[in-house]
Amino acid sequence: MMATMSGIDIPEGASTRAGLYVHVPFCSSICPYCDFAVTLAGEARRAQWERALLDEAVMYADCGFDFDTVYFGGGTPSALKIDRLTRVVGGLREKLQIDPEAQVFIEVNPEDVSPETARAWRDLGFSSVSVGVQALNDVSLGILGRRHTAEQARRSVESLLEAGFDTVSIDLIFGLPGQARSDWEGQLREGVGLGVQHLSCYQLTFHEGTVFGKRREAGLMTEMGEAPQAELFAITHEVLGTRGFEGYEVSNFALPGHRSTHNLKYWTGAPYLGLGPGAHSFDGVCKRWWNRSKVRLWQRDIDQGRRPVEGEESLTDKQRALETLMLGMRTADGVDLAWLEKRFQTDVIGPNADTLRDLEARGLISRRADRIAPTPAGMAVADALSRAFRIEGD
Ligand code: SF4
Repeated sequence: MMATMSGIDIPEGASTRAGLYVHVPFCSSICPYCDFAVTLAGEARRAQWERALLDEAVMYADCGFDFDTVYFGGGTPSALKIDRLTRVVGGLREKLQIDPEAQVFIEVNPEDVSPETARAWRDLGFSSVSVGVQALNDVSLGILGRRHTAEQARRSVESLLEAGFDTVSIDLIFGLPGQARSDWEGQLREGVGLGVQHLSCYQLTFHEGTVFGKRREAGLMTEMGEAPQAELFAITHEVLGTRGFEGYEVSNFALPGHRSTHNLKYWTGAPYLGLGPGAHSFDGVCKRWWNRSKVRLWQRDIDQGRRPVEGEESLTDKQRALETLMLGMRTADGVDLAWLEKRFQTDVIGPNADTLRDLEARGLISRRADRIAPTPAGMAVADALSRAFRIEGD
């Protein structure tokens, strides 16, 4: 018995417990550092998105996956009116096989949160919420071009905690130009003090084509150097670690029982389906595809009865093995190399024996039997760490 997914047969026995990602491409203003597929649009365009999204879901109705996580990301899902969100959630549950007990996540911005909206999202079945706090002082928020104040951010977290979500998470950004160690440390302490169960801490990136990217090119802004960035990263692990938060992924910290089950799917090779402009999907075996990112083109394809796929690729076993290894080097759980060899019929330990010894000697990985995992020092250089490995013939 095989299930068909986007023209690909999923072998019997492959996991069909999948994650569903829904991209909401709308924001109330565009932040100067943001390179996501987002747009400013009024209610008419949002209504078109709603219809097209549900039509896209119909195109995957027989995909064979049953979803045990659903994630509304963006963009700004909280910028959708409650009645629209209600119709989208209901429509997806009707058209796709979503476990009634699925964990359902939503990203929200502080300016959209009130005790009433928080309760409405909770009543709609969202179990976890992630707030785009970004900074807990108004100077940093001003630099980041955010519309909310630090006080609004604090109040939004309070309302969400009161509404009774299983997990309330906050996003914080570090590495702002000239940011002092004490400033970041203070924000981390305050973030924890708000009573949240999860934090995502991202390093500010100057993406090409964004306002920040252009300012950097024009010499008007300077990116923080590698050494101070590494220091702020180390402080993050230290401050959160001593307060019981496990750094289970490079940017993610959770109290026990509050890891993001949806994001874990991306890092562990589980299948996921992305709906909406620019959303990515993976069949859990070897095939990956991604949607058109321009809302207009994404919608045109759907209106013409086509899946709005912009590109796809098939990965070989060796590529999958290398990718699993690279993703594993971003997580505290790491990777079991013996399992990896068996799963992908690929020699991993042999060609990397010297690298493994060297990384262990430098304190960047820890090794217990065949399982390797990055140490906090290794996580600080996760990208370089994952590039250190090779798989013959990849
Ligand atoms: S709110 Fe988030 S998604 Fe929207 S522009 Fe700002 S950073 Fe980008």
